[in-house]
Amino acid sequence: MSQEATGRKPLSVGDYFKNIWETVTSTVAGMKITGRYFFQKPITIQYPDEMMVVPERYRGIHYLEQDKCIECHACERACPIDCITMETVRHGKELEWISFTVDYQKCMFCELCVYPCPADCIHMGTEFAFVTEDRSELNLDLLSYKGMSRDARIRKTEAEVKKAAKEAAKKAKAEAKAEQATEEKGTEGEGDSSDA
Ligand code: SF4
Ligand code: SF4
Repeated sequence: MSQEATGRKPLSVGDYFKNIWETVTSTVAGMKITGRYFFQKPITIQYPDEMMVVPERYRGIHYLEQDKCIECHACERACPIDCITMETVRHGKELEWISFTVDYQKCMFCELCVYPCPADCIHMGTEFAFVTEDRSELNLDLLSYKGMSRDARIRKTEAEVKKAAKEAAKKAKAEAKAEQATEEKGTEGEGDSSDA
């Protein structure tokens, strides 16, 4: 094909060798960098089979020490975007847990819910892999069990037994008092009739 047809200038001999030189030098420059890393320990890891060490202060998925929680709602109130909700049934001092959820569709991992906790029982964990195709699963329940703990059930039973015993003692005392009053009334009646 002619020069007019291609619109290209013919390559001079100088440019030809210059191109070869640039190709060789740029390849050597690239291979020098490759060579530098070739003998170093690899820094890439095969995730998810291998995991990097997560820093201790990483702010990942929360975890809750459920047995320490007193359901004071301080964390819920501190959250700027209302992503914490909890539900329980109270049995005196004991808690029966229904739910304690954090909505990770909204959570911005700011840690503001952690600081006001008086029982130091809600923490930012190091777990970060939380992938799902179902949005509803992002409203994550942090409870490790539902209902009452074994210890709480024992304490509740003990408190009920104590309360029943107290009430029975109170009732017996009232009955004894009423009986004594009746007896005293009877004695007074007998005294009045013998005087007459
Ligand atoms: S980390 Fe921040 S946004 Fe997430 S639940 Fe706690 S207070 Fe709310
Ligand atoms: S602030 Fe702490 S103790 Fe209070 S409800 Fe939240 S996690 Fe439980």
